[in-house]
Amino acid sequence: MDPNDEPEEDGANVDLDAVRKGKCAVIKTSTRQTIFLPLIGLVDPATLKPGDLIGVNKDSYLVLDTLPAEYDSRVKAMEVDEKPTEDYNDIGGLDKQIEELVEAIVLPMTHAERFKNLGIKPPKGVLMYGPPGTGKTLLARACAAQTQSTYLKLAGPQLVQMFIGDGAKLVRDAFNLAKEKAPAIIFIDELDAIGTKRFDSEKSGDREVQRTMLELLNQLDGFSSDERIKVIAATNRIDILDPALLRSGRLDRKIEFPLPNEEARARILQIHSRKMTISSEVNYEELARCCDEFNGAQCKAVCVEAGMLALRRGATELSHEDFMDGIQEVMAKKKTSLQYYA
Ligand code: ATP
Repeated sequence: MDPNDEPEEDGANVDLDAVRKGKCAVIKTSTRQTIFLPLIGLVDPATLKPGDLIGVNKDSYLVLDTLPAEYDSRVKAMEVDEKPTEDYNDIGGLDKQIEELVEAIVLPMTHAERFKNLGIKPPKGVLMYGPPGTGKTLLARACAAQTQSTYLKLAGPQLVQMFIGDGAKLVRDAFNLAKEKAPAIIFIDELDAIGTKRFDSEKSGDREVQRTMLELLNQLDGFSSDERIKVIAATNRIDILDPALLRSGRLDRKIEFPLPNEEARARILQIHSRKMTISSEVNYEELARCCDEFNGAQCKAVCVEAGMLALRRGATELSHEDFMDGIQEVMAKKKTSLQYYA
């Protein structure tokens, strides 16, 4: 094909031989247009493979560069960790929540035969709900570590920002990958982004969200509870979740994650400062009393701030005052942005 030929708009006249020889290319844009390029552009055609991500000129669509894989929004939407290391000792408070998760997720994976002998069907998944920064992700990772499972995380909001059909495909891919890597725990963060109550909508974006959600229901129904795959989902908005997700045989256990009480806050402060050199006069109980309404992430931030303050003063150990000042700093940031440490 003559490179100067005007391409047909629908690419129907693509000369397959020329494509095979790497002289031209058919590309799909983020707006889902298919474009035929008689001349590829600035990259060596021999280095391009089908499915590669490329940067193109926005008018001529000539290929300017190939992009590394991290540009792929899928990478942001799915995270795989084959060996999480979190331990229950890294978690302050939440004793009841740990117990419930051990019963619903950990024991069915580590002692499946006990459930089988008793004829009990363990749940396929659980839903964690509660305000941000209260340890939901932390506990999901700890469960994966305790069961020596692969931890697969899907982020709700990223799933719906993709091209039409990609959210559903990613959900499908995640479950397939989990089956391959079993035992596996699929953690779906911010489930509300895809799992809100369904409503009739004409907007294609909303329909796309619904499609992703239907795929999730499909996948939840598509594996049996004795397969070594568990789903843990988390949300801050249980009130807007589609009840279909919580039906029996899906995420039928609900576990609440409240803000930590005073005792839990003291424990979280201790956990996050245990690697620091701390003066013996630091009184964790008193500190915990001073950070009322802080979530776990903000308690952790207090320790980081206190450490920085001690460093700035050139001290060799963290004093009680450093922690008190750290609380003030976190409180000030909490006021300007409620989501700051979430
Ligand atoms: P989000 O809803 O925003 O995803 P989350 O509930 O999943 O929040 P995490 O990501 O688990 O919260 O917590 C954020 C950070 O706060 C964690 O890195 C963890 O170190 C710390 N943290 C939160 N809660 C606890 C806790 N109970 N014990 C120890 N650390 C905690």
